[in-house]
Amino acid sequence: MEITIIDKPIGLSHTCRAMPDIAKRRSRKITLGGLSLGGEAPIRVQSMTNTDTREVEATCAQIDRLVEAGCEIVRVAVVDQQAVEALARIRERAPVPLVADIHFDHRLAVASLEAGADGVRINPGNIGGLAKTLIVAQAAAKAEGCLRVGVNAGSLEKELLEKYGRPSARALAESALLSARELEKAGFYNFKVSLKSSSVDQNIEAARLFAAQSRAPLHIGLTEAGPLIPGVVKSALGIGFVLARGIGDTIRVSLTGDPVVEVKVGYEILRALGLRERGVEIISCPTCGRTEVDLVDLVARVEQGLSHIETPLKVAVMGCVVNGPGEAREADIGVAGGRGTGLLFRRGQKVRRVPEEEIVTALAEMAEAEAAERSE
Ligand code: SF4
Repeated sequence: MEITIIDKPIGLSHTCRAMPDIAKRRSRKITLGGLSLGGEAPIRVQSMTNTDTREVEATCAQIDRLVEAGCEIVRVAVVDQQAVEALARIRERAPVPLVADIHFDHRLAVASLEAGADGVRINPGNIGGLAKTLIVAQAAAKAEGCLRVGVNAGSLEKELLEKYGRPSARALAESALLSARELEKAGFYNFKVSLKSSSVDQNIEAARLFAAQSRAPLHIGLTEAGPLIPGVVKSALGIGFVLARGIGDTIRVSLTGDPVVEVKVGYEILRALGLRERGVEIISCPTCGRTEVDLVDLVARVEQGLSHIETPLKVAVMGCVVNGPGEAREADIGVAGGRGTGLLFRRGQKVRRVPEEEIVTALAEMAEAEAAERSE
């Protein structure tokens, strides 16, 4: 199939607080294990386990931690038949949709769907051609499963590398469009697409080119983003810019480290753009020579002590009385540090002063009360 990359504007208009003149792209609604994706559905946050999938207990334990952090879709690597068998047992225990990540062997994708996977991710660059993709799609249709066409700059089809000379945004878009058109021609629509690169600009451009020519839902993520600090920065830019243009139906932040952190960063990106909120947002000052409490330690303890709260709340933790009371008043709850004490605020009103060692407990009680009132 000949694909022409048309460079046209996406032309919508919308929901992102950072760029209010941009509308959410109208993608097709699909389902993954009962979870809706695309269309009007919220932008879903997903991650991937880094345990050996064949170790069922370790993988289930990590999935539980991911779900607790708000992860809505979990992907697991399926490398052989033993992993397929483990997947079937993990599926029975996982509380969220489970996606089998497959490379090279399309038979593992088919077997994973038969074993109960809600979806499979295949890579068109290494699955062995469009005919294999269609075999997997047939199995997905039979199992009422979902497919992700996961294009990656590091493993593009040989023909596209020859055509473009190197991995490029256009090569990524062409790879994804080829698979998307073939699937649609075969009557299969329950799929999403990702076009990932470790380069921020390539990621943004590839998503834009694809989104202009397809209604398939898009999963956005920067691949191999690196360790924590560079990974968070690159992901915030590479994912954030795409979302700010109204493109994107699910996201994954890829970091070298604990995948639970990926989920937290994912929600922070969505929150910063005003696209979705979950849990406590901490407003804290950078500290300076006026700081009168051990703020760095206090903020870490507040973050930990309030991590169980899922209701979106703004909590200000400030080091002194210069900006402290002002910021604390603007937040839902807050504290302004004094000498060995904290002045507590709720909804802009002073509540009471407590000793430094009681601040975390007091804030947690106030946050729980606030969250309970909002859910009534
Ligand atoms: Fe410094 Fe106070 Fe501002 Fe924090 S709130 S940075 S301690 S002046």
